[in-house]
Amino acid sequence: MTSIDTIVGELEARFDDIALEHVRAWKQAAPNRLAFGCLPVFAPREVLWAAGALPVFVRGGGDRLETIRGDAFYQSYICHLPRSTLELGLLGHLDVLDGMIFPNTCDVIRNLSGVWQSTFPQHVVRFMDPPQTAEPASAAAYLHHELTILYGELCALAGVKATGARLHAAIADVSDAHAAARELAAARCEQPWNLPIDEVYLLRRAADSMPPPAWTALARAYIAAALARGRRPEDRIRVCLVGAFCEQPPRALLRAAERAGCYIVDDDLTLGVEPCGPDPEVGAADDPMTAIVLAWLRASRPSAVRYDQHASAGRALVERVRHHRADGVLFAAPSFCDPALLDQPRLTRVLDQHAIPYTSFKYSENTGQFQSIREQAGTFADSVKLWGTA
Ligand code: SF4
Repeated sequence: MTSIDTIVGELEARFDDIALEHVRAWKQAAPNRLAFGCLPVFAPREVLWAAGALPVFVRGGGDRLETIRGDAFYQSYICHLPRSTLELGLLGHLDVLDGMIFPNTCDVIRNLSGVWQSTFPQHVVRFMDPPQTAEPASAAAYLHHELTILYGELCALAGVKATGARLHAAIADVSDAHAAARELAAARCEQPWNLPIDEVYLLRRAADSMPPPAWTALARAYIAAALARGRRPEDRIRVCLVGAFCEQPPRALLRAAERAGCYIVDDDLTLGVEPCGPDPEVGAADDPMTAIVLAWLRASRPSAVRYDQHASAGRALVERVRHHRADGVLFAAPSFCDPALLDQPRLTRVLDQHAIPYTSFKYSENTGQFQSIREQAGTFADSVKLWGTA
């Protein structure tokens, strides 16, 4: 068995590789390989992978990059993600990518797609607008149309034929990765003391830019090595972390929250890569693209950036709290993130109805001071332990 230190060392090296040298090495290892950047949250991973394009999630530069020129593009009341993403581009760190996909997550990412097009004309830029409608048939037809066009374009770029067989194979690879991700989530839920959040986070961030089969093997190696640690549980509360689905908090912040007395047993940090429900069932659909479309429409997780006709996000959060045997919820939103911050009241209303305690704080990806967050998380943990409420 590979040692846990070796695996974590590899994960840290990948995480720190903001110039994407590992993506460059993957592309150079075989002809016709592409790599496409995907902004949070929606990314058609199976479609990209089927065309021979590595999906590479671009989640900003975090605290590993000083943002200078990227700041000049945005006002002070805009979140940090577009600034550091532009900085990455201006420094040439995203040159290895053949294109970028911008989903309609929020006004900021919508705007960034235009800025990107004019600043980096060498990139193929695609804006994807996932369906926002309560009418399933037209939503499915629309998304099928969009993804089929994208698939054709990518295959033409890669010089391969756009076949159903390629889509079938990609669905199988991504489904295997999803199975490993579910095993990871289950192991963390059962033994968070052996699978600390900052390591699990590194592993899930590795999925942002690894071929799915390679990540599946790495995830299973990590789970086996982490469970073999045999650590003893500590007296901490169990929490779900909600709202950090786009701009990412620094790893040190996650570590600080856990060390303050919490086990983070569930989160939405890598929404878009994690499995959200059953995988595409090819047998139940006419063709693999239909299966991909139906899986997304029926199963993706209710969130602040997804049309939620039946206001199911609050109920879904309560179910996640119950499923993970969590004692409460930590709302962690990036500063100036409208989707995350505007979503909080409707979620807390449902938590109040179920007497589930919560607390909230804001961060930015380059936050360097964690003392106040550590104190807040620690006070929350103590209150829940003593009185069962915050
Ligand atoms: S952090 Fe929030 S506001 Fe900023 S780009 Fe992401 S979703 Fe949009």
